[in-house]
Amino acid sequence: MKKMIKVKRPSVPASLQQYADQWLADLLAKINEVGSYKEVAATYKFKYNQPDVQAALERMYGGKCCFCESSVGETEYPAIEHRKPKSLPAFHKYIFDWNNLHWACPRCNTNKGSKWDPNYPILDPTADEPSDYFTFNVETCEAEPLTSPGRGKTTIDHVKLNRDGLVKFRKRIRTTALECMLGLEQSSDTNAIQRFKKLLEDLLKVDIEHGFKAEHSMFVKQLIDDFEQGSVL
Ligand SMILES: [Zn+2]
Repeated sequence: MKKMIKVKRPSVPASLQQYADQWLADLLAKINEVGSYKEVAATYKFKYNQPDVQAALERMYGGKCCFCESSVGETEYPAIEHRKPKSLPAFHKYIFDWNNLHWACPRCNTNKGSKWDPNYPILDPTADEPSDYFTFNVETCEAEPLTSPGRGKTTIDHVKLNRDGLVKFRKRIRTTALECMLGLEQSSDTNAIQRFKKLLEDLLKVDIEHGFKAEHSMFVKQLIDDFEQGSVL
């Protein structure tokens, strides 16, 4: 299986560069004063929610959720995801840390919540190659960890990568992709070949800088690899 292209993180947005240290100092002082993170007013905690941070994360992930690769922002509000959960005392210090911020759909964000496995931490799409840790079963359309326990398993479990909606979505993509690939293989009609090629290209829109841009592209990529190797159909 070919490697996925990791997401490349751009430089720190100006607001964080300028204020992150001060915001963190203020937050830690406030936690100290009131006794717990939970009691601290929201205004101290959500300062990372700046327009330039949102724009940089959205661009970085090509408008997709960092975990499930669904498009976010068209029908739901995307969330700034703290990979190291901000509510855990050990990770308060990473709340305004650019390297801890990601872009997630509300479902993945809510499913993950403050879960953290210190032995097998959830994958970081800007530092890890997801395909080194989990794969897709193109028959069931479910994500499967390469090892269990392991970091792929943690990722699948914490955000529920095999929830009904995602599996259904992958199955729909599978139908289209297989139809295109079979069509390309069997058709001799130039117009039909062009149409199949265009459809496949849309499924696999490649973004050189940010890796694969289309929704669920890791799954599509694997479907195509498996098809080429003759292990599907
Ligand atoms: Zn998601």
